[in-house]
Amino acid sequence: MNLELRSDTFTKPTLEMLEAMFTAKVGDDVFEEDETTIALENKAATIFGYEAGLFCMSGTMTNQIAIKCHTQPSDEVICDALSHIYLYEGGGIASNSLVSTQLLNGDRGRITATQIEDVIKQDNVHYPISKLVSLENTVNKGGGSIYDFNEIKKIKTLCATHKMALHLDGARLFNALVETHENPTDFGQEFDSISICLSKGLGSPMGSVLLGTKEFIKQARRVRKRLGGGWRQSGYLAAAGIFALDHNINRLKEDHRRAKELATIFAALPEVINILPVDTNIVIFELDHQYISTDFVTKLNKKGIKTSPFGKHHIRLVTHLDFGDIELEACREIIEKMK
Ligand SMILES: *Cc1c(COP(=O)(O)O)cnc(C)c1O
Repeated sequence: MNLELRSDTFTKPTLEMLEAMFTAKVGDDVFEEDETTIALENKAATIFGYEAGLFCMSGTMTNQIAIKCHTQPSDEVICDALSHIYLYEGGGIASNSLVSTQLLNGDRGRITATQIEDVIKQDNVHYPISKLVSLENTVNKGGGSIYDFNEIKKIKTLCATHKMALHLDGARLFNALVETHENPTDFGQEFDSISICLSKGLGSPMGSVLLGTKEFIKQARRVRKRLGGGWRQSGYLAAAGIFALDHNINRLKEDHRRAKELATIFAALPEVINILPVDTNIVIFELDHQYISTDFVTKLNKKGIKTSPFGKHHIRLVTHLDFGDIELEACREIIEKMK
């Protein structure tokens, strides 16, 4: 049995998804003639009430393209210090967009309008121009934490006042939406752009869609080509994305339930001193500081449970489509014996 809890990216396509892929109608997407890719882009745009979408190979690519399109060299982007765009995209903010980063320390990765307001630069030659605010929902490094929509609205108002764009790294936005029952089109109203991932909890083998106005997506398409991201018969992959949006959103709730159960199971281990609140499909726990996370991950791995070190004393578990109740019970048995 594969007790894979390192990431929700490990899921493999089901036979039904594969069938949707190999029967897809395709064309050349650089010529904008791949009808399945166009259908995916329109579908994702419609869900959030946007004019247009752009299918890309990864969430890193959609985030980086968005940052490039919203800024000019030497502007700055304001984001939380735990942000994926800052921590896990290879320093791309600096190298792709020549933009500097103003970090904030939010609550489990969630920043407030007040915090942002305090760091917006005045119009003065000393400062970079604050041009973009980027939020993440749910926050990966915050343990799958969910933004309060009222705070998002306040941030949007602030951005409008200061002529700043607002981007959302929504790699796991659907995980938030199934919990809060908020309307995706409300998110479309507040953000100038959103990137969603198809390859996380939704179970596609790859892919992300960037959403925005027609004009924004036209510019994004140009940046994607320049990065080498123009692709041809991408409809085979887009078909997996369409299948994921049609079938795999509501079931994210089950991942959240299993994540909560895993938290209870792991909390019983003597080495574990703290577990972050489990809001969605991510569990982050802290070891007593005499234990090092990489060693403990190795120990769990030997027992058959794959997890990720997440800092010196923290470990992350992520539930997903290929981790069901049978896997959960197997974990429970293994952990019981380790107590
Ligand atoms: C996974 C992830 C991304 C995109 O990562 P890719 O591996 O490039 O698809 C972006 N933001 C967050 C919060 C993520 O978890």
